[in-house]
Amino acid sequence: MATVTDPYKVLGVDRKASQDDIKKAYRKLARKYHPDRNPDDSSAEARFKEISAAYDVLGDPEKRKAHDRGGAFAGGANPFGSGAGGPGGGFDASGFSDILSNLFGNSRGGGRGGPGPSAPRAERGRDLEAEVRLSFQDAVAGTQLSLSVPTSAMCGTCRGTGAKPGTNPKVCPRCQGRGVEQQGQGLFSISQPCSLCGGSGAIIEEPCPTCQGTGAVRTVKKYKVNIPAGVREGSRVRLAGKGEPGRNGGPPGDLYVITHVDASPVFARKGEHLEVEVPLTIPEALRGAEIEVPTLSGSKRLRVKPGTKPGTVQRLRGEGPPKLGDKKARGDIHYRFVLDVPDKLTREQEAAVEELSKVMNGNPRAKLFPRKAAA
Ligand SMILES: [Zn+2]
Ligand SMILES: [Zn+2]
Repeated sequence: MATVTDPYKVLGVDRKASQDDIKKAYRKLARKYHPDRNPDDSSAEARFKEISAAYDVLGDPEKRKAHDRGGAFAGGANPFGSGAGGPGGGFDASGFSDILSNLFGNSRGGGRGGPGPSAPRAERGRDLEAEVRLSFQDAVAGTQLSLSVPTSAMCGTCRGTGAKPGTNPKVCPRCQGRGVEQQGQGLFSISQPCSLCGGSGAIIEEPCPTCQGTGAVRTVKKYKVNIPAGVREGSRVRLAGKGEPGRNGGPPGDLYVITHVDASPVFARKGEHLEVEVPLTIPEALRGAEIEVPTLSGSKRLRVKPGTKPGTVQRLRGEGPPKLGDKKARGDIHYRFVLDVPDKLTREQEAAVEELSKVMNGNPRAKLFPRKAAA
């Protein structure tokens, strides 16, 4: 039997770690060993698969409980359902079908019919999440990326049963295969998922060496993803049906691509608009000017009014980034003026400022001292 690695060790977390800490540890490691970051490094890829498999167990509170109770995971004996179905299926169905008909009592005689395990409840596949980094330009204009996404697939060795080939899952001795436990007595008893088998009704004594009893293996799927124009830092792009496969004929989950956008040296995001800081010389601010300002497609002329104060904002409507979900609509660009004040003056500037100070010599701070003014 293959050695079962300790998923806690693989993720480097304590056995008492919270689900949140486990998720964090997984993300950190998955990022580090992701095949996209380590092309042609087979040891990184092996490590990545190991990390993914460990998270597959610890990331799911039910699977984690089952693992903590001892050794291999025993819950969800057959996460991919039909893999072992049918009369000629992977294990002797005679005993096991009784377990399943107890478990899924209502489905007996309905739906699939015939001998073999009755059809378990269809379950939608899990949603997946992937993160991408984009340049500011690509985020504004939209782009296509290739993306490797870790996902799970049915284990080929055990055909999804989780049991070592040649062995069968056993009827759970605690719940006798019902998958539920009763607490209390009579009218006031409460039934809850069996704590030994996790509700599957079956115990896997000899786990499949490939999937370590989970019935699923990690693979990496490659996608070409169209990132729409106008995404921002933290946007979630949904790719319907690209998540994990559904179980027992259920629909697949979705893939969410989370975008991280590099900052631009010129443009700053302000909601659906962009902001640009535009320095003006003191004469430009005083007398007004026609200046050149940057846009996403090049530059435009902007008329600055005489007497423009620092902090004043002028807008160019519709010159901003496209709005997500509305291809025709675009945000604006806000140009916010600041004064360009030199650290040092040349002799000529010094003389000119001297002349200016003779004619601009009021006290603009008088209104800061209303009591003095009243006296
Ligand atoms: Zn049980
Ligand atoms: Zn397997």
